[in-house]
Amino acid sequence: MSLKRYLSFDIGGTSLKYAAFTAEGQPLTTGHVPSRLAAGPEGLLVQLQELSKILLSPGSYLAGVGLSCPGQIDPEQGYIIYANHNFPGFNHCYLAAAVRHLFNCPVALDNDVNCAAMGELLYGQGRGLSDFICLTFGTGIGGAIVHAGKLYRGSRFSAGEFGHITLDHSQTALACACGQKGCFEAYASASALCRRVKQATGLDLDGQTILNRRAFATLAPIYQAWLQDVVSGIKSLVYVLDPQAVILGGGIMQDRQLIRELAQALEAALLPGYQGLPVKAASLGNQAGLYGACVMITQQVQGGP
Ligand SMILES: [Zn+2]
Repeated sequence: MSLKRYLSFDIGGTSLKYAAFTAEGQPLTTGHVPSRLAAGPEGLLVQLQELSKILLSPGSYLAGVGLSCPGQIDPEQGYIIYANHNFPGFNHCYLAAAVRHLFNCPVALDNDVNCAAMGELLYGQGRGLSDFICLTFGTGIGGAIVHAGKLYRGSRFSAGEFGHITLDHSQTALACACGQKGCFEAYASASALCRRVKQATGLDLDGQTILNRRAFATLAPIYQAWLQDVVSGIKSLVYVLDPQAVILGGGIMQDRQLIRELAQALEAALLPGYQGLPVKAASLGNQAGLYGACVMITQQVQGGP
């Protein structure tokens, strides 16, 4: 009897992560290779085919493929509405259909933060919860909303764009990559922390180095101001959605002290009725998208892992 296998791929700007899962959702093999995106979707298809040959052992068959990809995705059509400049040729691309044609099996495609939230729901910090929000802190701030145990996607598959809620309405508000001013991510992303340090001190430090030196007199006020901006954005989301927990992803949020300080500052900022809200670091780290893409395809094919 041949064994049922699912493959999942997390397509990033620099690396392509891959995994093979059993029908029960147990990971068998995970890894990553540099992504070859310069050749557009065609280059990606070649890469997926090469990896599938390694991932599928003799005696197994491919029951479905899950794909996690940044950008605005229509998961019903398996269509990338908009990727970003690291993904040449991927805008307006029916990627799921191309991969389905390649492997002749069902394919699920969704946004990377949505996939990460589903990974956390089934395998990570969201286990046992039905309503939570995920925020990922990197170059920008990504978001996802889980409601009643499912992703809340919105009317255009774009719910959870937390990075672009407005934090600063003033004339001097900072410019955002989206073309507007005053957005949450322009102040509170991991990159924003580095920019704020550079602007104030001239020092070119990465996020981890800043965290390591957060108590230094030169950095402490900048770090505290950034922390308060992170809290301001999350506080607004909590008032709108009243989640059971806030789950924070991105490399910078692996810092336990930062999570503790954020939880304390959020507690102090919220009205009494919202207090005691758990703030947790995403536990799957950079594997969350892979696990979530597997959840997406197994739910599509067999109703869940
Ligand atoms: Zn923006």
